Amino acid sequence: MTGQRNGAGAAGTPQRDRLTGPLVPLGPLELSVEEVRLLWSFVHGDIMDASMRRLLRSSLGLCPRHTWAYAVVEVELWQVGAGSRGGHQPFDVTILYEDLLEHVADGLDRKRSLLRLHPDDVLVPVGPCRICLDTGLPHVPGLRMGYANSNTEALTAEANTLIHTTTWCLETVGLWRDRVCPDCDPGVRGAGDPSLRCRFHLSQHRPLPEDLRHRVASRLREIRARMRHLTSSMTDYGASVGAAEDTSWIEAMGFFAGWGLPLYLATTVESAWPEPEGRARGIGD
Ligand SMILES: [Zn+2]
Ligand SMILES: [Zn+2]
Repeated sequence: MTGQRNGAGAAGTPQRDRLTGPLVPLGPLELSVEEVRLLWSFVHGDIMDASMRRLLRSSLGLCPRHTWAYAVVEVELWQVGAGSRGGHQPFDVTILYEDLLEHVADGLDRKRSLLRLHPDDVLVPVGPCRICLDTGLPHVPGLRMGYANSNTEALTAEANTLIHTTTWCLETVGLWRDRVCPDCDPGVRGAGDPSLRCRFHLSQHRPLPEDLRHRVASRLREIRARMRHLTSSMTDYGASVGAAEDTSWIEAMGFFAGWGLPLYLATTVESAWPEPEGRARGIGD
């Protein structure tokens, strides 16, 4: 069943796993046809619905697996878009995560009060991932149609190549490598700036000191500011952007879903950690 994989390094709590699923392990991401069918429909419009946005706030987006899967499906399959790349770019993803980054930053910046004793509760979803929910539905016999009758098996094979996602991760790794959650990064093993933690690892350390809450909030706003330029660069009239903006969505995903996938795609696991560049050694001179 999807969304329930437990992998190496997936630190979990029963409470969190019940709502959101475990972190994506450091390894390949292989999507099922049903996941791609649901996510491809999701990319095509559900997300623009206001009530869906509210639901997505309460669940803080999707579970880690489906957060990355959502980005992968859009980046791999969406071939034609505005802006200099012209396609294979995370446009819907950045719109959703601008909203969620602001939602979490606002929550973390709130003052403690009688009504809100624990502002860092904003890091914990109060609803399930809707893709997990949909894939968990009892099997419905008969033909299930993809979006606009698309051939979902072919789309799944295409999405699972991860070609464009890998390219994005490799192009930006020099910028995000030092911003990876220290608890997600086997090369650091928890030592590092706690304000870089992803929301899962932050939520394990609740209650957070007030100054840490505000530092995380300002980091999220800084990512969001860059991501807004990236979103606009993917429209007809937006200015083109540079690497700092290009890396913003990967940082946002890393915060919400952990860093397993980009670390797997863009760094050399055994030999490179903790070196950011992942430069291969021993190649002939
Ligand atoms: Zn899910
Ligand atoms: Zn983490």
